[in-house]
Amino acid sequence: MGIWQKEFTSAFLLFLLVLVLGGLTGLFIPLLLLLTLALLVHQIFQINRFERWIRLGGRSQYPKTTGVWEEIYYHVYRLKKSEKRRKKKLGKVIDQFRQSTEALPDAAVVLGANDEIEWANKTARSVLGLQQSDKGQRIPNLIRFPEFIRYLKSGNYEEAVILPSPVNSQITLAVRVVSYGAGLRLLLAQDVTQLKKMERMRKDFVANVSHELRTPLTVMRGYLETLQDMDDGLSPLLSNSVRQMYAQTERMQNLVDDLLLLTRLETQQRKTQCIDVPALLTQICKESSDMLDNAGRIELVLDTQVHIVGEESSLRSAFSNLLSNALKYSPEDAPVKVRWYQTEEAVILSVEDQGEGIAATDIPRVSERFYRIEVKRSKKIPGIGLGLAIVKHALMRHDARLVITSDLGKGSCFSCHFPIGQICKPKTNAVLKDTPQSLYLNDH
Ligand code: ADP
Repeated sequence: MGIWQKEFTSAFLLFLLVLVLGGLTGLFIPLLLLLTLALLVHQIFQINRFERWIRLGGRSQYPKTTGVWEEIYYHVYRLKKSEKRRKKKLGKVIDQFRQSTEALPDAAVVLGANDEIEWANKTARSVLGLQQSDKGQRIPNLIRFPEFIRYLKSGNYEEAVILPSPVNSQITLAVRVVSYGAGLRLLLAQDVTQLKKMERMRKDFVANVSHELRTPLTVMRGYLETLQDMDDGLSPLLSNSVRQMYAQTERMQNLVDDLLLLTRLETQQRKTQCIDVPALLTQICKESSDMLDNAGRIELVLDTQVHIVGEESSLRSAFSNLLSNALKYSPEDAPVKVRWYQTEEAVILSVEDQGEGIAATDIPRVSERFYRIEVKRSKKIPGIGLGLAIVKHALMRHDARLVITSDLGKGSCFSCHFPIGQICKPKTNAVLKDTPQSLYLNDH
């Protein structure tokens, strides 16, 4: 029998008892009232006891009772117990998470929607100088490096920002933000002091070796030039050897020059000015076109005349490398198009060729140092593999990026995207009036 049926049955039996007693004594109504009153008092007593039990947390064993009240007590008690178990489990998980993040060697800070600190681990307190009491404070008010504030504001967290530790300038940190959940972000700061130190040592080593190699190379080239001048007096074997030695020293000289240029691009302070890019491109294209092999191959299109803030020497190296690659890696008579134009987001220099193209798998790697694509070519194309690394570094100094698109067998397009914010006003625009919109350098 169900619990409610039992309740109704006992109520019905009580009613029957009152009916019989009422019939015998003639006091049916007072007895019915008495029964109703007794039932009411009983329910009020039960409700009162239940409320008191719940109020005290419902944790202790519930009071002895019967019927539907026993069922109610039993279910509530079970719910409470399972909730307690769940809470305990959750608490354990949170504790484990806290302990593991506390033990992390990297600093971790949970940020709210308004950059306020919600939680920070022990490393964050030691390397970022955050205190327990900083909870709720906005992090830009505590870590005040402009590059960090810019990074946080930008919303673009693809790369880390490198900063000195606010508590110890000898420690270098790579700070990165990861977004998750609704408006929450996790800030991670990793100690990269050793990595940076090793990188500096590598740069210094390459710079020193390259520098030291310059003098012996110049001496060797000088002697080899003298020997070449005395060609008449040499045997054919010796004369061939001298020619090859000279070619190899020239290759080494190029390598040393490129390595030194890369080191300069990586280490030197930026000295910027407003650069007349159309004039620079005209000059570079003319110089390349004047070389016998390239006469008539270069088309320069100047869709815009804007100047940008930058470094002339590094821009010249970048543009020259892109143009020389386009000429080098396409057939001898294939045209190369150089274009300077502006879109809504960027000012772009593109160099487009109709050469051999680059496989999609090689595109991400071509700007690595010494990366050369091995292709079976009838003619071996000379190169060291540093040209595009130079382009990449030169562009990084201008907050610009290199975009490579290519169709294998059809050609490639290398474009340098400069932020619109780099556009600057030339001092005088008298020269600009004379700069043609499009130059076919074969016309000269
Ligand atoms: P290098 O030209 O000295 O080999 P780079 O760094 O300039 O070095 O180029 C790296 C590699 O990228 C080249 O070896 C070449 O295989 C490929 N590459 C560069 N530019 C082009 C291009 N315009 N077309 C096809 N392949 C190219």
